Amino acid sequence: MIRTPQLPAPSFAALALVLLGTWLVIYLGHPMGLILGGFCFLTGVGLLLLQGFLRFGSEARVKSDLELENLSLKDLSRKEDHLRQGILANLQEGVVLLDSRKEVRLYNPAAQSLLSTSSRLTMGGSVTGVFREPETLRNIEMAYTGKESEWTLRRDPRALRLRAIPFESMDGSQSVLLTLDDITRQEALETTRQKFISNASHELKTPVTSIRIAAENLLDGGFVAPDGENNLKAIFRSVDRMTMLLNDISELSRIETGALRLEALPIQLGVFVPQLVEELRHQAEPRRITLNAELEPSLEPMVIKADALRLHQLLENLLSNAIKFSPEGSEVMLRIQNQSPWLLWTVQDSGPGIAESDAKRIFERFYRAPSTRGVPGTGLGLAIVKHLALLMGGEVGLRSELGKGSTFTLKLPLQG
Ligand code: ADP
Repeated sequence: MIRTPQLPAPSFAALALVLLGTWLVIYLGHPMGLILGGFCFLTGVGLLLLQGFLRFGSEARVKSDLELENLSLKDLSRKEDHLRQGILANLQEGVVLLDSRKEVRLYNPAAQSLLSTSSRLTMGGSVTGVFREPETLRNIEMAYTGKESEWTLRRDPRALRLRAIPFESMDGSQSVLLTLDDITRQEALETTRQKFISNASHELKTPVTSIRIAAENLLDGGFVAPDGENNLKAIFRSVDRMTMLLNDISELSRIETGALRLEALPIQLGVFVPQLVEELRHQAEPRRITLNAELEPSLEPMVIKADALRLHQLLENLLSNAIKFSPEGSEVMLRIQNQSPWLLWTVQDSGPGIAESDAKRIFERFYRAPSTRGVPGTGLGLAIVKHLALLMGGEVGLRSELGKGSTFTLKLPLQG
């Protein structure tokens, strides 16, 4: 707030006193007149001087107040600039402001990095120097006529969601604010979700169709043995397959959405490994497959910390695959080695092996190598294995040669 100067008695009073003093001296000529005149003259001059001094003082004060005010305004504007730049620099969303001449007036680092090096943003640069895509230029043009729009711009490898917002500048001219969002990951997730739904419904169709055919046969009078029995068996097989599929789907979804929480508890390897092998023997025996385990002697007494249920599930998936795909009478071997800081689990079989082209894809959901399509399964087991291993801080690997068997490896941290 600027303070207005407070002046003393009006200056004409002082001037009147000076004039009165001069008149008394000149016209009265009397010694009293001289004294009175001199007194008036001196008082008048004194008042004038005092007024001048006070005015000078207050002007100087006003000037310094103005300077102070100016400084604090500059300081405020500097702080606001700093704040605005800070906000813009930390936004993940890209922001570009185009002025009425369609030139870049402002942009943030996110905008530059999202547009990558294919478009260099410069202050004062023209919009056509930044965007070449006809749809983008059209939408920006539309924003200058007051119409807001949103669209996807693809700049390999990115997909960007752009929004052009009409924006009136302080001088009343029309500007356009562009916002840029990276939706590459979002799009990939959406594609995966759609693929997942389409694969799951495709997989469910087979058992549902089998159930329908079997039920129709029963309805047509086939419920007299042996047809009736065969149809009922087909229904049970399909229901089992659907149950297996639905279990795997819900398990995978629990893992992927983060709903699955692992509980790391002490596991003594010398107890855990023989129990696991024993439980899986009933799968191996009908096909005369020998299931063996080799636990490094130093690991026998070792106690690791892991989620026993999930570790069991993970190894069961690898071992039952090995049993399922191996020829009758062959051997499946589980080895556990200390490769500090890792515990290395290896499942080796002498089954059909996996071609290089399939090896790249078998950890994907629903992927099944064409050569093994006849063997029952959901194509979800290895996807679950991969996710569980990652959740446990480890990883899975595969070495395989077509016709010579496969070796799956699982590396888990020794200190779970
Ligand atoms: P599923 O076994 O239910 O088909 P998985 O996800 O467990 O699904 O395995 C995916 C595919 O990987 C299998 O269909 C098979 O083609 C291949 N596969 C997995 N384990 C082996 C193995 N030990 N030997 C040969 N192929 C295997």
